[in-house]
Amino acid sequence: MTTYPTEADLLAKVPTQLYINGEWVDGENDPFVVFDPANGEELVKIANATPAQATAALDAADEAKEAWARTSPRYRSDLLRRAFDRVIEMRDEFALLMTLEMGKPLAESQGEVTYGAEFLRWFSEQAPRVFGRYGQIPEGTARMIVSKHPVGPCFLITPWNFPLAMATRKIGPALAAGNTVIVKPASLTPLTTLLLVKVFEEVGVPKGVINVITSRDTAGISNAIMGDDRLRKVSFTGSTPVGIGLMKQAAEKVLRTSMELGGNAPFVVFEDADLDKAVDGAIAAKFRNIGQACTAANRMIVQKSIADEFAKRVGERVAAFKMGRGTEEGVTIGPLVEQKAVNKVDELVQDAIAKGAEVITGGKKGEGAGFFYEATVLHNVDLESLVVKEEIFGPVLPIVTFETEDEAVALANGSEYGLMSYVFTENFSRAQRMMDRIEAGMMGLNVGVLSNAAAPFGGVKMSGMGKEGSFEGIEEYLNTKYTAFPEP
Ligand code: NAD
Repeated sequence: MTTYPTEADLLAKVPTQLYINGEWVDGENDPFVVFDPANGEELVKIANATPAQATAALDAADEAKEAWARTSPRYRSDLLRRAFDRVIEMRDEFALLMTLEMGKPLAESQGEVTYGAEFLRWFSEQAPRVFGRYGQIPEGTARMIVSKHPVGPCFLITPWNFPLAMATRKIGPALAAGNTVIVKPASLTPLTTLLLVKVFEEVGVPKGVINVITSRDTAGISNAIMGDDRLRKVSFTGSTPVGIGLMKQAAEKVLRTSMELGGNAPFVVFEDADLDKAVDGAIAAKFRNIGQACTAANRMIVQKSIADEFAKRVGERVAAFKMGRGTEEGVTIGPLVEQKAVNKVDELVQDAIAKGAEVITGGKKGEGAGFFYEATVLHNVDLESLVVKEEIFGPVLPIVTFETEDEAVALANGSEYGLMSYVFTENFSRAQRMMDRIEAGMMGLNVGVLSNAAAPFGGVKMSGMGKEGSFEGIEEYLNTKYTAFPEP
């Protein structure tokens, strides 16, 4: 049963300061406002860090790194497990907070609490399972030990669209591996991360191990940290252009990097698909998080013989969606995160219409104070339309058609991105061919939602490098060392 606190009580409880070296401190710049995207009103004002305060956070992470690296894996595991338990106990608070600052419907925020918390449990279980190797070199003249070590202080930068999961997906493995961290949440949705850091404080994570900085001067604080020799790793989730900038800076210091960047997921439906499954999958893959997911199906690539039927069925489902503030009963489409996003989505839709797309449903900005855009289905979209070339990040489902399997593959791969992909077919041989041929880090085969803490999440091409979650996730935060010694 859900028991949500009142919004006022919840907001009064959320920290609004920076967390540096185990202390909550004010920002040295004027505080900035976090808004409710459903009505454009102020939720709270929060701390605005200066570059010097970012350096102070790195001082703390550097100071704490040796003692933390020497703690036992079981100790770190127990702390992460306690944090998992506490987040689950506080699930209604976390869910409501995400809906308030980011806008997604409460039921989806509940889903993110489950998904996001799971990274804490998974990596609490992985902390004691970091092993090396021992062996003889082939010539038989020496022995080798291969051992794993924390990389050192890590800078973790997260986006606004999944405020809890993007933070736990980085903090969980970083801490499990014995690293200290500086977390920088997105300025649009920092509150969930601040509440999460309070949980880490409550369960007893030592001072300096986790530091969090919020700031309007993103480039200033980022440059201060990225330019400092004591930083050893940057893990970034966000847009490709910002990721490229960070990789250039990382190159100057030869930093370890993990980059989870943008996507433009193809959603391929063959005529041998189970159409009910494909329609369910499309709704989930497109409209979850109001379309604001890097994994969102961006281009529906549907075989011509079934495309009209697919468009009709999807259109009927989408036309029945209820748009509104995510806290309201029955709402399935919340607001976008800011007005700029609404304008961008509308530009893409109007461009597609101008190039001949048929509007099955939606196609307009919402009315009223919040940042709403109608859930939209566009059929027979021209391939030159921006809506199929760019990451939409909104509730718009464009359908393009194909005739042959080769054509479907060419369309699916015709993007600079390669994060998520979806394929719907009941033909097992074809499914395997698609696994081989589609250029993406992940594939949903007859399924529209597949992220899981136990699975390696990440992309190829301009979608980035590195994996989060699973066994691979902790490796991103470990250095491998080889030690040799003579035969005894
Ligand atoms: P963004 O790149 O604008 O911002 C992401 C984070 O980087 C924020 O914390 C932001 O404050 C920070 N940032 C911005 N400029 C910076 C700079 N110069 N130096 C350091 N940090 C800087 O992205 P966004 O709008 O918050 O998120 C949406 C994007 O994130 C989409 O492209 C989406 O596909 C991507 N995303 C990817 C994944 C994934 O796992 N691959 C997951 C979620 C979102």
